[in-house]
Formats: sequence, structure tokens, C-alpha cells
Amino acid sequence: MSDGYINFANSSLGQTLIKSFGLPNPEILDRYEAGQDFIRGSLLLGAAEGAELSSAIAKTLGNSQSPILTSGDTAAKALKSAKLSAASYTPNEEDGQKFGALVFDASGIKNSAQLRQMYDFFHPVARKMAKSGRLIVIGRTPELCKDPKEQTAQRALEGFVRSCGKEIRKGSTSQLIYVAPGAENQLDSTLRFFLSSKSAYVSAQVVRISKAAEQSVSNWEKPLAEKVALVTGASRGIGKAIAETLARDGAKVVCLDIPPSEEELKAVATELGGEALALDITAEEAPQTITDYFKNNHQGLDIIVHNAGVTRDKTLGRMKPQFWDMTLDINLSSEERINDALLAADAINENGRVICVSSISGIAGNMGQTNYSTSKAGVIGMVQSMSPVLNKKNITINAVAPGFIETAMTAAIPFAIRQAGRRMNSMSQGGLPVDVAEAIAWYANPASAGVTGNVVRVCGQSLLGA
Ligand code: NAP
Repeated sequence: MSDGYINFANSSLGQTLIKSFGLPNPEILDRYEAGQDFIRGSLLLGAAEGAELSSAIAKTLGNSQSPILTSGDTAAKALKSAKLSAASYTPNEEDGQKFGALVFDASGIKNSAQLRQMYDFFHPVARKMAKSGRLIVIGRTPELCKDPKEQTAQRALEGFVRSCGKEIRKGSTSQLIYVAPGAENQLDSTLRFFLSSKSAYVSAQVVRISKAAEQSVSNWEKPLAEKVALVTGASRGIGKAIAETLARDGAKVVCLDIPPSEEELKAVATELGGEALALDITAEEAPQTITDYFKNNHQGLDIIVHNAGVTRDKTLGRMKPQFWDMTLDINLSSEERINDALLAADAINENGRVICVSSISGIAGNMGQTNYSTSKAGVIGMVQSMSPVLNKKNITINAVAPGFIETAMTAAIPFAIRQAGRRMNSMSQGGLPVDVAEAIAWYANPASAGVTGNVVRVCGQSLLGA
């Protein structure tokens, strides 16, 4: 379902009424198109004294054609030593300069007094962000900092980034990336994702990158070439967009959905050059059928996306036991059973990816959704508990937690609640299925080997559970 208000808000009459009555002002978001550079417009890089990640950042920036500028000596020196040419920029209120991205390497910040360096970098350019701009702070994983003062200061970055997300508006996003010691070579895929328009509806998120074996990507237009992926619930909605996006990135996609949807499922699979597997994931034989399918028809699988999910809403006192059982079984228990069977048969390949779809309801809770929220919080628990286990096999596990996404599921919500749901976020709009799919494609990327145990909300910085 499309949101007509966005087009109205971006018309000249709409803008006049929005200004007069203080109505929500959703921007038309810049979304990815094939061949687009991962940096949109000029990028300004700054760094705190003693910054440790600037050469890793420079390695990524060197792959873009967009102009790179630096503010301050530390960033300039880092780019020079990485042999990346960048003009130096001195902020000037009058110069009319706009930036597509503002990036600050905060890894050198060792105590709270040094947080001032972040203010000094962002303050003079805070109003120079272009539409759909990107603000990114990169720091060190607080829990891994040995010195309590450093841990405190690095943890403080979260408050800054989340507040910036609420201030910058105009479709811009704000993110924090924490890099563990020794994980510097894992930054590339995450920095590219957050800089690019693929992360259009992801804002105010905190991602932790851990040490992992480096995986190279030779073609960033087809990073999933030769990978085999399974997407559950792929006949429509978010699952269909995930299948399309993984296929765009080069994967062979097996699309799974319940047998009554087989016709739609086959149409999706055929369009993508993929395969259709009509199966109810809660069926007793489903884990073995899936395992056998990938063992017999492919040499195992590289990516599994647990997307299939249902809502059966009722307040707790009115909820029938079958609504509880069905929601928990589809959204959580079947995923555990399928993972267990695949892992027991060694059917998930080396450097594999397990990707789950949670929900902000699993983070914030929701009226009438005790069953759904329990299942989606359980998905987060599964990611957290399985990540160290799978790490030993070089398999990552992560989740996305979508907010309000325009699909059949949200089209069924009554009109007034639907309108409120769409606007209750910093971007004043719902997301599109492709926004969730792009985050999943980033997790699936071979270069995301250091991204594990993360839950990233795709919610435009929803006010719920923030
Ligand atoms: P959707 O349009 O209802 O699609 C879900 C698909 O999963 C449907 O095709 C559904 O088939 C299938 N499915 C359900 N039970 C299954 C089973 N037992 N075996 C195999 N397939 C099954 O939902 P969506 O909005 O795209 O949501 C996709 C995922 O995102 C879900 O996990 C949902 O909880 C999550 N999510 C969505 C939103 C949102 O705003 N839309 C927000 C947060 C999280 P039938 O329905 O035909 O049975």
C-alpha cells in the first residue's frame, strides 16, 4: 500500500500547509539504483586526536568517485598516509557548501573531556547536511575498552548519534559503528552500507563489528555471486523483496512459502531465475526436507533468511491458545528447528549467514501482541545466544527489526492506527520492503564476516522502544 501523504507533503500546496499547521514533513527518500556510487555528494571526514581507524576508513573511501574533504589535521594526515587525495575544508557559514556525508573517527577518544572534539567537528557543519545525508560516527566497542574512562566516553557516543538522528531530518540518517580491536579490516561492508542509499530507512542504529577472517568481494555489484540463499515467506511482501535483492546481488535464491501460495511463489522464483519450495515451515518434516533439498540439489546453502511470520493479535485475556501456539511456532520455534537440522547435517557452508526478521514489537512490546512480541523478542534471544556458537563455524547470525513497513500485513491495520504508525518515527513515514531487504543483503555480504550478533532496526528511528 502506498502512502499518498508523502507525495502531497512534497507538493508546493503540501509544503505551505505543513509549515502553517506544523504537520509531519516526510521527505522522499533517496533509494539505491543500480550502478549508483555508495557515497552521494561530497563527504567530510574528521577524526579525534589519536584516531586509530582512519586508514581503514580511507580504504573504503578510496573506492568512491565522490569528492572527499577533510576537516582538521588528524583526518588529513590519515588520508595522506593512505595516499588518498582530499581537499582540506574550513567551515564557513556563508559558503553554501552541502555534504552528502559527515564521518567522524572517534576511536581516539579516551575520556569524557575529549568528546568535545566530536562537537568541534560536527557543530560548524551540522546545518550543511544535504537531503538524505549520512552522519556516521565510528568508535571502539565500549565493552572491550580496558580503561573505564575510555569505555565511558565510547559509550557516550550512542547518545550523540541517536539525538542527531532526531535533529537532522530531511531524510538524513545517523549511525554509530563500533569496531573491536583487530576488526579494522572488517569495516568496509558496513561503512559502505550506511553511507549508501541502501540504508535509506535505517537510522540511529549502533552496530558492533568483531574480529573475523577477511573475506574479499571482487565485484560489489554482485557480491553474492555463486552463493545459494533460502528465503522463507518469499511469495509476497518483505520476503519477496528480500529474494529480489539477494538475486540482484548475484545469489541463486530458493523461495519458500506455504503450499497454498505455490502459484505466486513460482512466479517470484521464475522471475529471479531461482527455485520454488512450497512447504509449511511448521510441518514436522520441514527441517529435514529443507536440509535434504540443499544437500541434494546444491552443495549446502550459504544464506538462510528466516522471514516467514504471522500476527494473530488479541489482548492476552481474549487470546485463544491456538493463536499463541501458532504465532510462537511459525515466528520462533520452527526457525530453531530448521537451524538445528541444518547445523547437525553441516548443511550451512563455511562463512554462512543466518539472518532473522524480528520486529520493533519484539523490542518495545505492543498492545494486543503478547504472542507476536514474545516470538520476536525470542528471535533476538536466538541471535544473541547463537552468535558465539556459530562463530566457531565462521557463520554469522544477525537480525533486522522492522518498524512500520508498507506491506499486506500493515495494510490490514485500521486507517487511523495505520496513519499514526507511519508517522511515529524521525522520518514521518513507513519504510518499503526493499529497505528491510537491503539491510539483509548487507548482512549476507561475504565482507560482513565481522558483523554478528547484531539487531538493526529498520524503522526510520521509531519512537517505540527507542
Ligand atoms: P506477509 O506479507 O504476511 O508475508 C509473510 C509470508 O510468510 C506470507 O507469504 C505467509 O504466507 C508466509 N508464511 C506464513 N506462515 C508460514 C509458514 N508456516 N510456512 C511458510 N511460509 C509462511 O508479511 P510481511 O509484512 O512481508 O512480513 C515479513 C516478516 O517481517 C514477518 O516475519 C513479519 O513478522 C516481519 N515484520 C513485518 C513488519 C511490517 O511492517 N510489515 C514489521 C515488523 C516485522 P500466508 O500469510 O499466505 O500464510
